[in-house]
Parts: sequence; structure tokens; C-alpha cells
Amino acid sequence: MGALEKRLSGLPADIVRTAPEDLASHLTDWRGAKQGRAEMLLLPRNTSDVVEIVRWAAANRVGLVPQGGNTGLVGGSVPEPDPSGPVAVLSLRRMDAISPADPAGLSMVAEAGAILANVHTAAEAAGCRFPLSLGARGSATVGGLVSTNAGGVQVLRHGNMRSLVLGLEAVLPDGSILDQLTALRKDNTGYDIKQLLIGAEGTLGVVTRVALKLSPALAHRSIGWAGLASPKEALALLKRLRAAAGEVVESFELMAGAAVELTFDHAPNIRPPLAGAHDYHVLIELGAKASVLESVLAAAIEAGEVQDATIAQSETQGEAFWSIRETIPEAEKRQGKTIKNDISIAVADLPAFHAEALALLQQKYPGARPFVFGHLGDGNLHWNIRVPVDAPEGWLATEGEAARISLHDLLMRYRGSISAEHGIGTLKAAELGRLGNPGKLAAMRAIKSALDPLGIMNPGKLFA
Ligand SMILES: Cc1cc2nc3c(=O)[nH]c(=O)nc-3n(C[C@H](O)[C@H](O)[C@H](O)COP(=O)(O)OP(=O)(O)OC[C@H]3O[C@@H](n4cnc5c(N)ncnc54)[C@H](O)[C@@H]3O)c2cc1C
Repeated sequence: MGALEKRLSGLPADIVRTAPEDLASHLTDWRGAKQGRAEMLLLPRNTSDVVEIVRWAAANRVGLVPQGGNTGLVGGSVPEPDPSGPVAVLSLRRMDAISPADPAGLSMVAEAGAILANVHTAAEAAGCRFPLSLGARGSATVGGLVSTNAGGVQVLRHGNMRSLVLGLEAVLPDGSILDQLTALRKDNTGYDIKQLLIGAEGTLGVVTRVALKLSPALAHRSIGWAGLASPKEALALLKRLRAAAGEVVESFELMAGAAVELTFDHAPNIRPPLAGAHDYHVLIELGAKASVLESVLAAAIEAGEVQDATIAQSETQGEAFWSIRETIPEAEKRQGKTIKNDISIAVADLPAFHAEALALLQQKYPGARPFVFGHLGDGNLHWNIRVPVDAPEGWLATEGEAARISLHDLLMRYRGSISAEHGIGTLKAAELGRLGNPGKLAAMRAIKSALDPLGIMNPGKLFA
């Protein structure tokens, strides 16, 4: 019996795949930037299978890389290219059941492999909604969203995934089941251990089922698009919206003109919402009648804060506006290499930070162009940097990395975060080690070694 066969004995045959063609798509990330290596793919059907897998992995010292939709953007969902021991990808895709929503309690239970778009549909069928959405909603799973504490386009009103998890079930690294799968809104019985699993990026256990917090369906919805000069004016518009509409600002997305224009080249069916070019654009969604949005935009134009604006006249037109915003990551991926930065900062400080970052880039890295878009309403921008067209071989690893470090250093002066919503994975592990608070890092390591002393859960991630 070979080493691999020996290791596989003890696992239900139906859940193991070792053929290279079965593993291939699980070993590379969405960007195609990372190629990992694993001996097998494991496809559990239920929580009992996960328990068996985890116990087997601990006994055989096999690293487990939990994977959902594999849409993560920091390299957390794929194994390392050169793992120090045997590794298996643990895909939750077969565990995708969604229980009927409870409209009275505004909750719903989904298995970890349930796809976000299906969660939306199931919530809507019960007259509710699950208020977290992002461009990868057709592939991203509940387990991945919990494990990255995903954000998306509605955080300014509903918070990120952490605020939308009422309870969860997970298998811990020793094979025990953490059962906090309730829809309780109040439970002060000691440490809230489930919070450790949220945002842990698969390093503390495997999330298997989640009780999600729903919202009532919106009575009204209106979607608008505005062209403006800079993030400063965008912030002024956000203040106006809040003053007029209160809590119902569902989304407020900022996009640089270059990012919007790239989508027109990338997807010829996309039509520009406004006639002219603008340095910046915002996409607004309100849970209110279009008349509210119309009067706010008119007042902002009158005050000189907005250059031009339009309101979607139908659901289809509203979806067309959203498709521009959601095409940006794909268009960016196709146009060539960029340095990805997923930063957050106090909303009020965003305009000043943005201006300083632009000046820094121009002065120290001429030729490198900013490619900025994101969730201005909650202080999170994808402050990406395009590699110069004439960059010499190796620019990304040297100058590009130096540009990232300079941007992060500037961010630290504003007490911002180097990862607003994508997590750390491997892409940002070194920067977390460099810039993270030593007290927090020590506590993180203590928690990791207490729960996973053998280091079997997602080896090589989070910690440099
Ligand atoms: C086009 C596009 C747009 C995006 N927009 C956004 C956005 O607006 N906001 C945002 O926050 N993110 C965004 N993302 C990133 C990504 O969609 C999210 O990080 C998402 O939460 C990942 O879900 P997933 O199921 O694909 O997880 P994966 O990529 O498979 O895994 C992500 C991490 O979670 C761990 N994990 C997965 N499942 C489990 C589990 N069951 N138990 C334990 N650990 C697990 C993995 O090990 C990995 O560390 C976007 C990605 C793309 C491609």
C-alpha cells in the first residue's frame, strides 16, 4: 500500500477524489494568480462527513484547506504551492441545502455550500431578503462569506457578514462540533465562540451550517447614477441623502471614471448612464421612492456638488446600472496586472486620504495609474494600482510591492485597515505581520494554537 492509499483508508470512498482533472479548478484562485498543490479533494455530504474528515486529518497530519465558491481574492481558498506536508482541499459544495425562511423571526438556515444567489432567491420566496450582495454572488457560498466576514454593497445599512449571522455550526480542529446553530437574538451565556469562526478564513475550523439574519422586503426601491469631480463631492452627496432619506441608503458605490470606462470596452452591451465623461461616478440605491432620490440629486446639482445625474426608470435599467459596477473586477482582471489594495478608513477621512495617495503615487511611481472603486458609503475602497504599460520585467515584485507598502504606511497614519473585506489569506500575511498590532497578533496566535495545536486547518494562511 502506497503512502497516499494508506492515508486515504478510513475515509468514505464517495467523498474522495484524487484525479488531477477533478482537482485542477480547486488549485487555482479566481484571478489565476496562484497555483497550489494538494493530494486530494474531499467532498463531504453532511456534518458527520466533516467530523470524520477532520478526525482523519488530525490522525494523519493532513492539512485541510476549506473551500466554498473559490472566489476569494487573497489566496486563502487554495493550498500553498509548496506545502510542508500532505494537504487536502475540503470543498463544501455538496452541502448546499437551504431551509425555508422564517418570515416572523426573520431568519433562515443554510448549509455552508449554499450559493449566495440561491440564498437571495429563497429569502425572497418568503417575502424577505438577505441584505448582503457582491459581484461574485453566483458562486460565493455561505461558508466562504462567513469565513471572510464578507462585506459587499450594503454594509452601510446592514453591516457585514458578522452582523448577519445569528448562529452557526462548525467542526473544530479536534473533530468536536461547535453547535451554536440557533436564531436567538439574545444569548449572553459566556464567550460568544461563534464570533471566532467568523472571519477566521478557515484557520480555526470548518463552518457547516449558518442561521442567517433576514430583513423584510423593501416597500420601495430607487436606483440612481451621478457624475462628479471627486470623492469630496461624493461624500457631500451621501450626507444629503442621509439627511433626506435617513437610514434607507442601501448602497453608495464610488467608481473612478477610468474604471467605469473600462467596462464599456470590456462589455460592449453596457451603455453609459450619463452622456459626458466624469472623473468619478457614484451608484446609489435607496429603499425609498424615486421622488426622494430625484429631489436630493437636483439639490446636489444646484449646489455644484454633482455634475450630472440620472435615475433608473425601470428595474431593468436599475440592473443595467448595477451591472456596470459589477463588471469592474472582471474588466480589471482582463486588462492586465494591478496591485490590489482593499483598504478602509473613517468615511470622513476618505477624501483627504485619497488626495494624499494620488499625490504619493504620482510623485514616487510615475506611470503607475490608480484604479479606484468601492464601497465609499462604509469607508472601503479598492485602491488598486495599474502596472505601467512600459514596466520592466519584475516591476510588480519590486516597485509594485514598494508602492503597496507606501500606500499602507500612509493608511496607518489615518488609522485605516489594510484589509476591509477580503481578508488576509496569503496575499496580505506579510503586511499583517509588519503592521498588525503586536497585542492582537499575539492573541491571534494563542487562539490558533489553543484550538488547532496540530496546525491542520488551512496551513500557511493568515500568519506570515
Ligand atoms: C467579482 C468578485 C467580486 C467580489 N466582491 C466582493 C465584495 O464586494 N465584498 C467582499 O467582501 N468580497 C468580494 N469578493 C470576494 C469573495 O467573493 C468573498 O471573499 C466571498 O466571501 C468568498 O466566498 P467563497 O465561497 O468563494 O469562499 P472561498 O473563496 O472558497 O474561501 C474564502 C476563505 O474562506 C474559507 N472557507 C470557505 N468556506 C469555508 C467553510 N465552510 N468553513 C471554513 N472556512 C471556509 C477558505 O478557506 C478561504 O480562506 C468578490 C470576488 C469576486 C470574484
